[in-house]
Amino acid sequence: MRRVFPFTLLAASLPVFCQTPDWSKVNPEAMRHFQALVQIDSTDPPGNETHVAEYVKKVLEAEGFQATLAAKDPARANLIVRLKGNGSKKPLLIMGHSDTVRVDPSKWTFPPFSATRQGGYVYGRGTLDDKSDLLAATMTMLLLKRSKIPLDRDVIFVSEVGEEAATAPGIEYLVNERWNDIQAEICLAEAGGVRRSNGQAQYAMVETTEKQPKGARLIAKGPSGHGSRPLRSNAVVHLARAVEKIAAWDPPMRFNDTTRYYFEKLATLSTPEDAARYKGLFDPQKAPAIREYLAEHDPIAYSMLHTSVSPNIIQGGFQVNVIPSEAEATLDIRALPDENISAFYDMMRKVINDPAVELVPDTRNQRPGAAPSPIDSDAYRAVESAYKKIYGVSTLPLMQTGATDMAFLRAKGVHCYGVGAMTDLEDGPKGFGPHSDQERILEEALYKHVQFFWEAVRSIAASKN
Ligand SMILES: [Zn+2]
Repeated sequence: MRRVFPFTLLAASLPVFCQTPDWSKVNPEAMRHFQALVQIDSTDPPGNETHVAEYVKKVLEAEGFQATLAAKDPARANLIVRLKGNGSKKPLLIMGHSDTVRVDPSKWTFPPFSATRQGGYVYGRGTLDDKSDLLAATMTMLLLKRSKIPLDRDVIFVSEVGEEAATAPGIEYLVNERWNDIQAEICLAEAGGVRRSNGQAQYAMVETTEKQPKGARLIAKGPSGHGSRPLRSNAVVHLARAVEKIAAWDPPMRFNDTTRYYFEKLATLSTPEDAARYKGLFDPQKAPAIREYLAEHDPIAYSMLHTSVSPNIIQGGFQVNVIPSEAEATLDIRALPDENISAFYDMMRKVINDPAVELVPDTRNQRPGAAPSPIDSDAYRAVESAYKKIYGVSTLPLMQTGATDMAFLRAKGVHCYGVGAMTDLEDGPKGFGPHSDQERILEEALYKHVQFFWEAVRSIAASKN
């Protein structure tokens, strides 16, 4: 039971450190550091993220922090900084990745590492993915230190390398060789965010789980022969048929806590037509037709309903007058977190139903599977209230169809929540999204993201009594 104090007494006893930062002073400081971070070229490969780590190290050390470079490869240093709490709760990890995907500079209106401010936006590689999170986490450390807020748990900051290409010097190194330095109960990292449409924030999304990248190859074999004498047994024909069957297949639908809640809540925020569709997914009579609609019109929602298969590479034959004896297709499979993948491969074999086509599981690029982070935890609720406070919107838990480094942390039992800045729904198709040739962030979104991050971290880590 919580004791109730008369309001006046409570107000009078509020210590100075509970006061909100002066955002009019924090914003220009945040923008300065953000532009500096974007101006450091850390495209991966090769990464060279040490330049980013050194910048952040300098900023944090100037404030009295002790910051440690943690590197498997000296050119690719992670940065670890810890702000001590009283230890009554286990640490909170806040993380942003310091690398970005590469650029084709000829496609950019503003040079990709200029961090040009124009029309209320900042343009540059990494403005959304992921230097905005890196900046928000950095600023939160500064603000925590300045405010002297007593903490129930340590807050650990990590600037992480290698998220976009090879995970070996980044999350794998941190989890396998620096675990004592980063071990935490809760983690905030990338992959969520606030969706704005027509200039209005609509809802926030928090990534609580993600699909697991898997793969397979289909190998069709048949007798080779002279191209002038077609064969029914042609490997290319068998492969094409198998690919067609797999692509047209609607794999079994299954919800988990995150996706069930996502579609239920999305229905309450949608137009009547969309709402009926999302609700209909729970009705076995209506669901097949709705899945077909989503497959056509909303591939993200459709992919969230089941383990998905996409044929992305196809190879076969070498000369026009030769019937080849072999043809091969490479499939990108994104499995639900709890999928029994060998049973799924067996289902695919039944769908293909052709002894001339062999399915070979691909074991490369494996990420650990893990249970979704809970959506009934204090940390989730803290993130939800921070989004409500800063943007006035509801939060949906999200199962990311892609993959992030949080998979490695969730596999170690950390409850990870993927957050992010506000973006315009209309921006992606126009080519301004993450990884695009004109990546950009709203200045307002950057400021709000810092405020959101501060609110969420304070609420998760600050002493409650
Ligand atoms: Zn990213």
